[in-house]
Amino acid sequence: MCGVMGIIGSQSASRDVYAGLLALQHRGQDAAGILSFNFTEQRFHLLRGAGLVSQAFDQSSMKTLTGPMAIGHTRYSTVGLTEGRDIQPSIMPQPYGIGMAHNGNLANYKSLAEKIRASQNRYLQTGNDLEVLQCLLAEGLTSSTARDKIPGRFDFQDLCRAVEGIFDIARGGYAVVGMIAGQGMYAFRDPNGIRPLVLGQRLASSGGDGSFAIASETAALNITGHRLVRHLEPGEIIFIDEQGSIQSHRTKVVKHTPCMFEWVYFASAESEVEGRGVYGARLELGRALARIIQRDGHDAGLDIVVPIPDTSRTAAIAMAETLKIPYRDVLIKNRYVFRSFILNTQEERERALKIKLAPVASEIAGKSVLLVDDSVVRGTTARRLVAMVRAAGAKRVYLASTCPPVRHPCHYGIDFPDARRLVAHGRNGQQIAEEIGVDGLFYLDMQGLREAIALPSLCTACLTGDYPVEVSP
Ligand code: SF4
Repeated sequence: MCGVMGIIGSQSASRDVYAGLLALQHRGQDAAGILSFNFTEQRFHLLRGAGLVSQAFDQSSMKTLTGPMAIGHTRYSTVGLTEGRDIQPSIMPQPYGIGMAHNGNLANYKSLAEKIRASQNRYLQTGNDLEVLQCLLAEGLTSSTARDKIPGRFDFQDLCRAVEGIFDIARGGYAVVGMIAGQGMYAFRDPNGIRPLVLGQRLASSGGDGSFAIASETAALNITGHRLVRHLEPGEIIFIDEQGSIQSHRTKVVKHTPCMFEWVYFASAESEVEGRGVYGARLELGRALARIIQRDGHDAGLDIVVPIPDTSRTAAIAMAETLKIPYRDVLIKNRYVFRSFILNTQEERERALKIKLAPVASEIAGKSVLLVDDSVVRGTTARRLVAMVRAAGAKRVYLASTCPPVRHPCHYGIDFPDARRLVAHGRNGQQIAEEIGVDGLFYLDMQGLREAIALPSLCTACLTGDYPVEVSP
């Protein structure tokens, strides 16, 4: 998972993108980059660096990112490395000059990379699926332009033909934002709309200059003062030129299956994804899970409801209200340690967890504690936290997950591609509870999840094994 942001029409485009990336930091913390285009100079300017947005750029180098058009990226590695050429955005010089950044993953990345090497005689410089998308777009634009027989002329139909060619062969979940040198900014979403993308507008009268923004989440628009215009449709291609003229085309209409994990875990609580507020969905997830616990009579004897920070707080508040059990925020987070799930290796995650949370023993000792987490994926975090809460003197420790058991890998951009590393894979509820070391384990069910998110359809492949897009490599 990553965050993408693009701005066109603002003299502070790169600074706006920087601000937007800060609001998208939760989507990726490995690296960040900003690419701007200066129409006067007819030049791209690129800055990329490892780490957080605040670490990847310094104020003096930001001044080099001139021009009214810029795109940016916060990186969370699922394919490729975290350094050098694998950091996004990237530029492909021909045709026109194509800048691109993306969020998501191509399930058939390897076979597409092989095909590109063989058919285009092209050496791929990165291990990143972005380069594959960029090669496919470049190839499509080249042949589209050749068909028109007007060398150097770009028009929206060329872009649509090229992106439709990508939709025909690139399987996965991907949301792309990019720039065509001297022309404008483009964006597109995969035909299933698995990864989110929104369009925003800031009017000149509302402060700053009039501009358009495209971003992974509305949280990024809020920070730059862009008003949400709409969520891009699945399979939609959009192009905005320097004058602010927008062209849009929707192609390849298939079933819209946005990733349920956006509401469960990934998106920022203040964001709205596909028209559904994330905070409201998390309240409903908590209420539905509390009702399951009440229905089965497991609420008797529970003393406190404790969120595992940060994502589960909203759901835990709703659970405590529904169960009428005190809410206690007694796992204190060291806010300077990265989220454990997003770190790349098991070793990194284990090390981070040790210094990430500290229990308030005086509030825990002698109590039956209901821990609430957004999800249980590998089980590493849960196992260590349960041991920590027991060591703080808890009489009993229970765990509630607002996501049903994650039993299958994700091939669309979230980092759990290997089923063997999922604690729920091949285990029933009792076995998972033993593995984690809890006295009781409560999962939300599929019906509760669907009702809480309240959209007609979702991708739930990691829960059900029913993949909306073919996943062969
Ligand atoms: S498999 Fe799971 S995590 Fe991956 S896109 Fe689908 S719902 Fe989201």
